[in-house]
Amino acid sequence: MTNLVLFGPPGAGKGTQADILKEKYQLVHISTGDVFRYNIKNETELGLTAKSFIDKGQLVPDEVTINMLNAEVDKNAEANGFIFDGFPRTENQADALAELLKGKGTEVKAMIALEVEDEVLVKRLLERGKTSGRKDDADEAVIRNRITVYYEETAILKEYYKKQNKYYGVDGVGSIEEITERISKVIDNL
Ligand code: ADP
Repeated sequence: MTNLVLFGPPGAGKGTQADILKEKYQLVHISTGDVFRYNIKNETELGLTAKSFIDKGQLVPDEVTINMLNAEVDKNAEANGFIFDGFPRTENQADALAELLKGKGTEVKAMIALEVEDEVLVKRLLERGKTSGRKDDADEAVIRNRITVYYEETAILKEYYKKQNKYYGVDGVGSIEEITERISKVIDNL
């Protein structure tokens, strides 16, 4: 199984690239943000819990997120491999993912990180907010909070995967095709 973690701050382009890569490499794409938004839209219990955190630009608690992720992986027992997008975001989540994949006789093969500077991120997210209907993209303070949370809670995962020799940084600025090309080079050499 080829299991990839697509990593990077909010607005780095993970979702865009994951949509292309899942077709190219026949992988199942799991975006925790998308699953939360689906649940919010359908007013499920999970959605209700998640909404209160997401609207403020905070992380949804680990326990909730990890249970949700486990369920999504279990729904796709036949997968060739997964692209995890938006997960893990904390060390607890990374440990939980390792455990889950170990139980299936597999592991994370690589973390591919899209590197984009903050001011570009804010611009991209505000632009996306004009059309995405995402409340967390419409408000600059919420966007900046998400970026702060990324540096305070999530960025440490770079070291986590570096220690395991699984970290690959990719320049996330350029055309969509150029970035897909850069990521593909990493995947093809795994
Ligand atoms: P972005 O990467 O643009 O911030 P996502 O769609 O990945 O957006 O996530 C939106 C929101 O969903 C996050 O700001 C956070 O509140 C919540 N979320 C997504 N994934 C996780 C996660 N792994 N752990 C905790 N909260 C999460």
